[in-house]
Amino acid sequence: MKYIASCSFGKDSLAMLIKIKELGLPLDEVIYCDIRFDDTSLSGETPEMAKFIPKAEKILKEKFNIEVKRITSKWTFKDHFYRVKQRGNRIGDNYGFPYVVGSWCNSRLKIEPIRDYLKSIKEPVIQYVGIAYDEPVRYERLNHKTHIAPLYDLKITESEAMELCRKYDLLSPIYETSFRGGCWFCCKQSLKQLKWLYEKHPELWKKT
Ligand code: SF4
Repeated sequence: MKYIASCSFGKDSLAMLIKIKELGLPLDEVIYCDIRFDDTSLSGETPEMAKFIPKAEKILKEKFNIEVKRITSKWTFKDHFYRVKQRGNRIGDNYGFPYVVGSWCNSRLKIEPIRDYLKSIKEPVIQYVGIAYDEPVRYERLNHKTHIAPLYDLKITESEAMELCRKYDLLSPIYETSFRGGCWFCCKQSLKQLKWLYEKHPELWKKT
């Protein structure tokens, strides 16, 4: 049996890693999936988050002896954006902007590469996921035979997860400098967040 944790470097997944180590729970690997925007290998992370991730990796290694494995799809967001649909009702259309619910970018650029990686492991896998106690709907949707949510089980809320990360200098600056996590080119962002991108990162704004 292998125990693998998914880490987005957000507060919940980092707090989960802290608790796993504090409690001595089994942990074989930590994986992180980076979505790329285009062939220049430009990350989907905001520059603030992209800068924070190596710092967090260093702290995880030094304080918890955790190494994070990076996984990336062979496709970029732009590859899929312009890809022509070969199946379904809209054959011949481009994939284009993802739907608000069931976005192709999440499934094709994140879930699929993670799934492929997990499939390549020959042993049964138990996955840790960072679901806080105030996310009961996400928790209910989990397959409890293959997934564990330590924060939820320990009744740790999102604000407590934030405090836990702060204690170890593992709190991403996005919680102070931005209004949301996720890709900077996401078409599901609020106007407020888009304005933030326009003002803080005009070079990225021009690419969207
Ligand atoms: S943050 Fe937005 S662009 Fe990135 S994977 Fe999620 S839905 Fe897609």
